[in-house]
Amino acid sequence: MDVETFRKAGYAAIDAICDYYKSMDSLPVMAQVEPGFLRKSIPEEAPEKGEEWNVIAKDYQEKILPGITHWQHPNFHAYFPSNTTFEGMLADLHASSVSNPGFNWSVSPSVTELELITLDWTAKMFGLSQDFYTTSERGGSIILNSASEVAITVAVAAREKILATMENKNEVSIKQTQIEDVAYWRGNATSKLVMYGTTQTHSIGVKAAMVLGLQFRAIEVEGKDRFGLRGDALRKALKEDQEKGLVPFMLIATIGTTSSGAVDRLDEIEEVTKDYPDLWIHVDAAYAGVCLALPEMRSTCYLDVINRKVDSFSTNLHKWGLVTFDCSPLYVRQRADLSNALTVTPQYLRTKQGDANSALDLRNMQLSLGRRFRSLKVWFTLRSYGQEGFRRHLRNGIELSQTFNELIATQRAPLKIVTPPQWSLTVFRLEPAGMKDEKELDTLNRRFWDELQTRSDAILLTQTILPEIGFCIRFVVGTPSSKESHIEKAYDIICQIALKVLQDAQ
Ligand code: PLP
Repeated sequence: MDVETFRKAGYAAIDAICDYYKSMDSLPVMAQVEPGFLRKSIPEEAPEKGEEWNVIAKDYQEKILPGITHWQHPNFHAYFPSNTTFEGMLADLHASSVSNPGFNWSVSPSVTELELITLDWTAKMFGLSQDFYTTSERGGSIILNSASEVAITVAVAAREKILATMENKNEVSIKQTQIEDVAYWRGNATSKLVMYGTTQTHSIGVKAAMVLGLQFRAIEVEGKDRFGLRGDALRKALKEDQEKGLVPFMLIATIGTTSSGAVDRLDEIEEVTKDYPDLWIHVDAAYAGVCLALPEMRSTCYLDVINRKVDSFSTNLHKWGLVTFDCSPLYVRQRADLSNALTVTPQYLRTKQGDANSALDLRNMQLSLGRRFRSLKVWFTLRSYGQEGFRRHLRNGIELSQTFNELIATQRAPLKIVTPPQWSLTVFRLEPAGMKDEKELDTLNRRFWDELQTRSDAILLTQTILPEIGFCIRFVVGTPSSKESHIEKAYDIICQIALKVLQDAQ
């Protein structure tokens, strides 16, 4: 494609995107296709000869778009939102136009510098302590692609830190004169390391431990504690494992769990971990962390403990934080913990600035070498919305969520909120008067869920299972285009289906 063809194709693509957004409301939220649908309409091999752009662009509209679930739809209430903005789309277009892997400062200084600046902006917007700013002496931050990558990256840093501590304390005896001895020592010490979370921690914890060959312990949490980790339960688990000769090395505490928006009690965790100074505390606030931008939500997020105590904190700006997928900032109290664990510098990666330590090379704080120019979309979005617009977006989601809760309270159908709503998430189930048997309720709600999926393509919700409660349904608000009328429409559909399921059950 030459420049002039690109100019025309680009204008046409923007037109198509605008039309897509204008018609979004009338589209089914979920892709209406069956597995394997695309193979039927796409050749088995790449074309031998290049094709006309118009044909390719038409195929995107006719073949690909029907297989896309519309996460930007105002009636998308599933999982957690995955916000995007036109500002973010334009940023990604520009980032693609200068496509480069930004691993060292010198390979594109703006890529590194804008990332560090926008991360200090967001740290300030969230009220994080200066300890986490890159401009601080020790702290730092980096944008990774996902909370999962964050968990693995942090776990590598925490593992290396605890191994260094164990070596210093000589907790595991070694003769480090031979390579085999070092490997044996590492293997032996690593096999004792335990990562902690709760039964409600996102699977990123289990996965990080699995990838790194570490143990993960999921501590039980209870409904009476709103499914948040309590200090006593943590202390008991740490003590039990220490008595077995294991070494607690990392805790993933969550602010805003996926199933119910639960918050682990960071105040109690802080107290307990005074006795475990080597335990790395990582806060996963993938969904709810953006609420730190709201002064009225900061105590719910235990900002004071985050600022005083935790080693690392991360939120996904690409969920409820307006920034186009993907964008997971990670803030660490000691950036050297990352770089000590992740720096490998062969000759071909050396630079004048790196050697002189006059610039940060972000490859040393992440798993991969190359990295996307993600900060541009943070910069465009925050400048265009302003911090005020960012706060307005979040408050709008919280208010619409309250509207949904008020609608449930009208009891047009016997829906029950099963755990106090948090952030913009409500977890509910169908609970007709007189039905007390948990098995019966479970069966009924599974049927309700099946019907919600099959009877209406106008809304999309997701299901979960909560301890002590069982099968229930999650309703999340957070798409920027959602309005009160969409919440009312969703409630109408939910009620109609609930009443039909009850009628069929009689
Ligand atoms: N943590 C929480 C609390 C989440 O809700 C999610 C995803 O919904 C994740 C982590 C995983 O996020 P990612 O897809 O960025 O790995």
